[in-house]
Amino acid sequence: MKFKAQVSFDGERTLVVMNGWLDERAELPELEQPVGGDLIIDLEKVTMVNSMGVRNWIQWQSAVEVEKNVMLINCSPVVVKQINILDGFLNDRTKIESIFVPYFCEDCGFEENKLIKIAQIKSPDEAAEAFGTYKCPKCAMNMELDMVKSQYFAFLEKQRAKFT
Ligand SMILES: [Zn+2]
Repeated sequence: MKFKAQVSFDGERTLVVMNGWLDERAELPELEQPVGGDLIIDLEKVTMVNSMGVRNWIQWQSAVEVEKNVMLINCSPVVVKQINILDGFLNDRTKIESIFVPYFCEDCGFEENKLIKIAQIKSPDEAAEAFGTYKCPKCAMNMELDMVKSQYFAFLEKQRAKFT
């Protein structure tokens, strides 16, 4: 799926909504620099990330000058995976505000991603407690987390080390 990015500015923050495949062909947006206020990057619709895309992303991120903070919001599961695998995916001033957590129903196979704000989670264990069960909207059985929580939430420790 071809990569697209939409940029808007509301007077206080610059919002970049990214969409599609983050790969070698992805053209990351040129921003007026320094970016005024916070830079908010919405990654909900990023559906694939490969190693060339990560390189692309890291170069773009380090070249962008921002007045305040860089916040990643609505990170899709493929993005969360990259954040965990690769230290460089986040640079020193980048915070994660919210991520999608994949859920799966063992009874009927229904899958759904739930949005979680990072401020609500203190540790990977607590994440499992807080977000352990949802009723399946199709069959009303309990849905399970569709990933290994110690891996999926591993980035929390890194983020905490940087910002607290
Ligand atoms: Zn179900």
